[in-house]
Amino acid sequence: MRILVTGGAGFLGSHLCERLLGEGHEVICLDNFFTGRKINVAHLLSNPMFELMRHDVIDPFKVEVDQIYNLACPASPVHYQHNAIKTIKTSVMGAINCLGLAKRVGARIFQASTSEVYGDPEIHPQPETYKGSVNPIGPRACYDEGKRCAETLFFDYHRSNNVDIRVVRIFNTYGPRMLADDGRVVSNFVVQALKGEDITIYGDGSQTRSFCYVDDLIEGFVRLMNTEDITGPVNIGNPGEFTMLELAEKVLAQVGGPSKLTYRPLPQDDPLQRQPDITIAKDRLGWQPTVDLDAGLAKTIEYFRERV
Ligand code: NAD
Ligand code: UDP
Repeated sequence: MRILVTGGAGFLGSHLCERLLGEGHEVICLDNFFTGRKINVAHLLSNPMFELMRHDVIDPFKVEVDQIYNLACPASPVHYQHNAIKTIKTSVMGAINCLGLAKRVGARIFQASTSEVYGDPEIHPQPETYKGSVNPIGPRACYDEGKRCAETLFFDYHRSNNVDIRVVRIFNTYGPRMLADDGRVVSNFVVQALKGEDITIYGDGSQTRSFCYVDDLIEGFVRLMNTEDITGPVNIGNPGEFTMLELAEKVLAQVGGPSKLTYRPLPQDDPLQRQPDITIAKDRLGWQPTVDLDAGLAKTIEYFRERV
């Protein structure tokens, strides 16, 4: 197949491009390089089945493809709040452009949605039926509401135009090729520990997240995309849930060094807890994570050790 990956030069996108090329597909990677980097896909450039396009998903584009994975959107709170209006445009206009293309060429289309659609959840763990608790006017809303609107667009194109959609809700994912200065917690803690700097805990560190290793996530993506008679949304994430203090302890246990914990204010609307209910992924995709946090952190630390 010929497959378009928007946001293909980013953290998740570059792993996805690699996986799809490995399966013998032709891959078009479209990216505006806001948080993605050419270096993430540099090793793919000599492959004749790979094509890199600098383009912004806000502007319409035409390519003949069989499948579309729409990943274009900054994912780290620091980056998506940097230009909030651009983030909303990327999610909403990007979805409209990708869905329009999918409709025209008859491609199956996959949306990288997020656990952020659940906001600061009152139900724990979060099943796909939970409608969420999002502050529509807070600093995270540009991302959360943008992604919620993109989901709406996907389901309206499906209902109105019979577009063949797959929607995944991704829970916090980490691994090699995260940006060192991305601001997300795993890369922050690992880079701080490797540099011997203090580990920045926001709030009292009792808030939780569930961390999925990138290879597990990409396996879930490919299974969802290639399963028939399913639209999603499907949660993909690792149900192993940790406080930020526990995460810091794990990173320090592996890296060692002189780093101490330092406390900073909790950002506004920072969700207090998050854990995926993955019953649907298990039942319909036969998917569950295989890499636990210690093993995934070891691979991530190895990646950053060579670069810090
Ligand atoms: P990332 O920031 O590394 O990748 C996003 C990519 O999209 C980058 O390459 C960036 O340059 C590109 N991009 C941004 N705006 C664009 C635009 N207007 N036009 C074209 N390209 C654009 O982040 P990631 O972690 O790889 O996330 C990929 C997708 O998965 C995002 O849609 C994100 O919302 C979603 N997601 C990720 C996580 C996670 O934990 N990693 C969790 C939930 C959802
Ligand atoms: N966090 C932290 N220290 C950091 C970066 C993040 O304690 O240096 C916390 C943050 O407040 C949040 C959690 O880690 O509670 C996960 O943050 P991240 O930005 O990785 O993702 P998200 O909030 O989108 O889940």
